[in-house]
Amino acid sequence: MKLKDLTSFLDSAIPLSFQEGYDNAGLQVGLPDKEVASALITLDVTEEVLDEAISKSCDIIISHHPLIFTGLKRLSGRSYTEKILLKAIKQDIAIYSAHTNLDVLNSGVSRKMAEKLKLKNVKVLLPLKNKLLKLVTYIPENHFEKVRDAVFNAGAGVIGNYDKCSFSTSGTGSFMGGENTNPFTGEKGKLHFEKEVRFETVLFSHLKGKVINALHDSHPYEEVAYDIYTLENESIDEGMGCIGELSKPIEEKDFLNLLSSVFSAKGIRYSKLTGKRITRVALCGGAGGPLVNDAVASGADVFVTADIRYHSFFDAGNKMLIADIGHYESEKFSVEILYNLIIKNFPTFAVRFSEINTNPINYL
Ligand SMILES: [Zn+2]
Repeated sequence: MKLKDLTSFLDSAIPLSFQEGYDNAGLQVGLPDKEVASALITLDVTEEVLDEAISKSCDIIISHHPLIFTGLKRLSGRSYTEKILLKAIKQDIAIYSAHTNLDVLNSGVSRKMAEKLKLKNVKVLLPLKNKLLKLVTYIPENHFEKVRDAVFNAGAGVIGNYDKCSFSTSGTGSFMGGENTNPFTGEKGKLHFEKEVRFETVLFSHLKGKVINALHDSHPYEEVAYDIYTLENESIDEGMGCIGELSKPIEEKDFLNLLSSVFSAKGIRYSKLTGKRITRVALCGGAGGPLVNDAVASGADVFVTADIRYHSFFDAGNKMLIADIGHYESEKFSVEILYNLIIKNFPTFAVRFSEINTNPINYL
């Protein structure tokens, strides 16, 4: 298949609009029309990973951390990033990254940590905001089901674990076609009244184009009347971090040992033990320092994350234990999300995990 077939799937499955403003997720290197047959999945793009992709004849590297974060003014091989980029271009290997957009997915980085710890009742810790829209449109009664289904099939109407969510009311619409019209019903130049259904539903903003296209394609009117509203509602499932429960309470030291074995974490840094047993576990893959207060507010007994700064260890007081298991360790299972997404949708595409441990941090 072409690179653009793969990247357009990934761009919508892990919406680019979910990424943080500072981020640079998406296609980093590669021509959209390039043919691709195999991918190498990795947390980081290092020179060793690139060499592995070359030796295994992979056409694309798909990573969690983007190789390019900031604007490049030259490509002369002076920096580590430039050196890798030049080599990737020369070897015709594409690079794609899914970063903070993968973090906030309802099956994303922190959820994967929860899965590995076998947590139950997992919910989002800091919900995504300002990503929801409401669509209201007016459909002639005898076309209602067709238009409704087309809008649902384009991805509208999802609220948490429910889909096809909508509300509809019957009423009367009016219109009068001008000289250059060809009205679906009634006559041009004559005021017409039509029994219509007012149909309203919700959608994520990244689906707007697809949903509006589906509306236009399925609706019988020449000019389709619709309204799009920005909603202030928080997302139910998507957002940074998550919180869930262990099947039974365990002692803090036992939990730290569990983290050590599940995440192969060799250097866990943790705050003062609270003396309480642990049931509620908050998680954030990668640098979760900004979420310490959210974890405390959510009633977590422990917050498992990475890159916690000295002063942040004080923030939980003695209400909650903080465990910093390391950035790489907290995110290393994220590659499974990318792998599973691709093989599920492209069963004949060859996908493999990198065998390189890219963790730049060593422990004594
Ligand atoms: Zn990270």
